Amino acid sequence: MTTTQEPTGVEVSPEIAAVTDAVRGVIPAAGIITDRTRLRTYECDGLAHYRVTPALVVIPEDAAQLATVIRACAAHGVPYVARGSGTGLSGGALPHAEGVLVVTSRMRAITEIRRADQRAVVEPGVINLDVTKAATPEGYYYAPDPSSQQICSIGGNVAENSGGAHCLKYGFTTNHVLGADFVTAEGDTVPLGGLAPDSPGYDLLGAVVGSEGTLGIVTSTTVRLVRLPEEVRTILVGFETTDQAGAATSAIIAAGIVPAAIEMMDALAIEAAEAAVQCNYPDGAGAVLVIELDGASVEVEQEYVEVERLCRENGSFEQRLAVDPAERALIWRGRKSAFAAVGRISPDYIVQDGVIPRTALPEVLHRIAELSEESGVRVANVFHAGDGNLHPLVLFDDAKEGAAEAAEKVSGAILDLCIEHRGSITGEHGVGMDKSKYMPRMYNDEDLDTMQLVRCAFDPQSISNPGKVFPTPRLCGEVPGKRKEAHPLVQAGLADAF
Ligand SMILES: Cc1cc2nc3c(=O)[nH]c(=O)nc-3n(C[C@H](O)[C@H](O)[C@H](O)COP(=O)(O)OP(=O)(O)OC[C@H]3O[C@@H](n4cnc5c(N)ncnc54)[C@H](O)[C@@H]3O)c2cc1C
Repeated sequence: MTTTQEPTGVEVSPEIAAVTDAVRGVIPAAGIITDRTRLRTYECDGLAHYRVTPALVVIPEDAAQLATVIRACAAHGVPYVARGSGTGLSGGALPHAEGVLVVTSRMRAITEIRRADQRAVVEPGVINLDVTKAATPEGYYYAPDPSSQQICSIGGNVAENSGGAHCLKYGFTTNHVLGADFVTAEGDTVPLGGLAPDSPGYDLLGAVVGSEGTLGIVTSTTVRLVRLPEEVRTILVGFETTDQAGAATSAIIAAGIVPAAIEMMDALAIEAAEAAVQCNYPDGAGAVLVIELDGASVEVEQEYVEVERLCRENGSFEQRLAVDPAERALIWRGRKSAFAAVGRISPDYIVQDGVIPRTALPEVLHRIAELSEESGVRVANVFHAGDGNLHPLVLFDDAKEGAAEAAEKVSGAILDLCIEHRGSITGEHGVGMDKSKYMPRMYNDEDLDTMQLVRCAFDPQSISNPGKVFPTPRLCGEVPGKRKEAHPLVQAGLADAF
């Protein structure tokens, strides 16, 4: 690409200069960032070891402004990346060096709370927890609750199909998104889904949820609200081993009880949480479960008796029921601060995210312990046990030679383990930039090409978050890859050429 000199002294491509010109006058000046130093503040998301400075940052204030940016990008073939709060842990919102970062943080209106419909309509930059705060006076809340819920955005949640502790009972983001206004990669705004429970035709909304910003940008979302339960009981249960905690988890689910949440932490994760927030977890525990039951009081009482018995039968040595909201908050603080807390016991760590069938938990946790012992790399486990959604925290010290590589190797081996047990390389944090290289371990070329065909239908120029999710982009004019001839589906007349 040739470059031109911006008034700021930064060299930019003519395409970026053209997009900047196109948005000036439409986006307020404060929402257009071209200064190199300020651009650098956007160079990474929650996965800080990948860093790319964007060529331009644009912060629209409404959907119309956002669509103008995308139309300008489309007209000049400029890649763009959507960013909500930038808390993603797979590098999904990592900027493109020759592209525009479109930040939705000024689009924070909760447009409507429709009590009778149990729906809220929100802009993409709205913080997850703010939906619950707005709905609580009406007797409702927003159920999907990533541990980052105090800072992550609904747009990011939709793009990642985010989960959280309470998704065991209530389902992931995809189960709570009923409609969206969507700006295509050509800059057109289209409604997907709506207030009604189902729409005829293909489930395009289903395709967009979890697509990690590779199909276009969501500018408004209609989400489901859930009635606040009559009663909530939070129990902290101590076990000597993760095996016992895993067995108790399986026994609870096998008994037909679906708690709102079952979260597990192992000894190393407990140590980290104690050091950070003094959560007062049981002394000497090799594992704890945080179990939350919610619903009608009669039902919760029955389930509580059963859960207590099943935990005891599976070896728990301590069970503590939170007696008031303060104690409940302390129990959850230990769990929700666990990722950050690990920083207290290790200078660097990788937050891994894989999922397995819940019954494979004991076997997989054993193998993770073996991998850790064989490699000398410490691994702390804190995860959504009820979903089988693992978050091994692979600890290392980047200052030590070869430590990062060893941690990366263990991290990859854990993902292989998840695949071997018929799980997946990501449970809720997305593929992003970080895990695109692992996609071929799960999918063959034909699978990946078929996914690309879907992508190309939405984004023929491949300008929407290119370089993410797919290992080697090979279709719709992306970087030339292995295959030069027409795709087999196209050759067979089964799909259109894009
Ligand atoms: C401490 C911590 C705890 C976490 N716990 C959890 C957890 O329990 N469960 C969980 O699922 N995740 C968790 N996460 C990961 C992260 O918070 C979620 O993935 C979250 O959904 C990201 O939201 P965001 O607004 O920060 O998105 P960003 O990081 O800004 O973006 C994430 C992806 O979404 C795309 N995107 C953003 N906005 C839009 C939009 N409007 N339209 C289309 N695409 C868009 C981006 O391009 C990118 O690909 C955690 C992260 C941290 C740091």
